[in-house]
Amino acid sequence: MGYDAIIIGSGLSGLAAGIRLAMFNKKVCIVEKHTVLGGLNSYYVRKNRTFDVGLHAMTNFTPKGVRNSPLGKLLKQLRFSHDDFRLCQQHISEIRFPEHVLRFTNDFEFFRQDVADQFPQEIDGFNKLVEKILSFDELNLKNQEVLESRPILERFIRNPILIDMLNCPLMYYGNAREGDMDFYQFVIMFKSIFVEGFAKPVGGMNYILHLLEERFKQLGGELRMGSGVTSINAEKGTVESINLENGEKLVCEKVISSIGYVETLKCCSPKLYETEDCETGQVSFMESLFVVDREPRDLGYDKSIVFFSTQPKFDYKVPDEMISITSGVLCCSNNFNYPQPLKEGLIRLTNMANFAQWNSLPRSDYIAAKKKWRNKALESVFTFFPDFRDNMVFLDSFTPKTIKKYTGHLNGAVYGSPRKIKNGKTPVKNLFICGTDQGFLGIIGATLSGISMANLHVLRK
Ligand SMILES: Cc1cc2nc3c(=O)[nH]c(=O)nc-3n(C[C@H](O)[C@H](O)[C@H](O)COP(=O)(O)OP(=O)(O)OC[C@H]3O[C@@H](n4cnc5c(N)ncnc54)[C@H](O)[C@@H]3O)c2cc1C
Repeated sequence: MGYDAIIIGSGLSGLAAGIRLAMFNKKVCIVEKHTVLGGLNSYYVRKNRTFDVGLHAMTNFTPKGVRNSPLGKLLKQLRFSHDDFRLCQQHISEIRFPEHVLRFTNDFEFFRQDVADQFPQEIDGFNKLVEKILSFDELNLKNQEVLESRPILERFIRNPILIDMLNCPLMYYGNAREGDMDFYQFVIMFKSIFVEGFAKPVGGMNYILHLLEERFKQLGGELRMGSGVTSINAEKGTVESINLENGEKLVCEKVISSIGYVETLKCCSPKLYETEDCETGQVSFMESLFVVDREPRDLGYDKSIVFFSTQPKFDYKVPDEMISITSGVLCCSNNFNYPQPLKEGLIRLTNMANFAQWNSLPRSDYIAAKKKWRNKALESVFTFFPDFRDNMVFLDSFTPKTIKKYTGHLNGAVYGSPRKIKNGKTPVKNLFICGTDQGFLGIIGATLSGISMANLHVLRK
């Protein structure tokens, strides 16, 4: 007998979709190409240390008892308590540009005050913009209209530096598009970062992913690791089965795929659908992790996350060089309010990177290039951050090429295609997408995407 639903991918969206379906007694199987859960937000082990691949922070933090926030809804839908996620809030974060610094915490009024102090002429416009953002229905799945955010922001704010400062964290944490950002996405990210805020789970993604896995299996879900899908068999516009790398064929009523829209269509057989029209994502990052012999605070830095630009104009675009060192994100993992201090100091650095350049390097040059560009990136950071080179005890970097290898996302595009399919539909009647290309990004966003696509396309039908 076949499955009610097969979910492709065990990232956050796939796991969440699986839990929802198993909860309602659907016969559901998650098939994952890799041997480790988590996709873009997985973890890996080096020299007995476990590192998160993608976790700087979870966005969308709201306190216990807030039920109608994204986090509150997620917990309710997956039947977890707030305590189950073991979230520790940020201390304070900042957006650092050459002539201005804006600080924010999980209390939005603190940020509003900092904007008023730094940009007194802009505060009225900023407040009106906030009103518009708070009343905007960014989660309407039927609304496919896309508005660019910059022209809208310019109606409220005259100083381009403030616009760029607001954009910097929102784009780094969730913009699939170079240059400007879709306004609904700007609203999602503004609420999730400035209005709600940052937290980190004790135990990192390893803990969260296994919590989800355990719930899925307890509910009777089946998880097949190391089972890459080679073909989605969609004769006459309807999926009947999928093929796995080991040659097995799994029969199913419906498929929800979290691997990306273009990536999913490319898997369809026969090749009924053109993928040329689809927009492939380009935005990717180089990520460096530094273990240091003391807390970042003891090096002289108490911020949780720093979004920086070394130039007054912030350019969110794929760099012509291997990486861009004129802007980035620096995350001090220790500067979250953990009940027990972390065992070691950990600093993470993110820079925008060019997939094509990294991908074209021969193996021998690749290692040397990582070292060279990591050093360049650090030099740029040390213009405002204490130099910790003498305190490093371990370091590691990965590039867009690594991201492509371990997640399958074309171009290592962390936020997938710029064109999102909000209703999750594909040209195949019973094939749907969730996660990155559906439009909700990040840890909380992807999880909610899995929940909402499972509800909409399987449970409500
Ligand atoms: C460096 C980095 C830093 C990040 N930082 C943060 C952060 O601080 N906060 C935050 O909220 N978010 C962050 N993110 C983003 C967040 O990780 C993602 O938005 C989210 O994890 C996406 O989940 P997903 O389920 O949509 O997709 P994915 O995680 O990509 O899941 C897709 C899964 O499908 C599998 N797969 C692919 N092809 C196949 C196939 N043919 N057959 C079977 N399985 C297949 C993949 O292996 C993968 O496990 C970061 C991401 C990266 C890469």
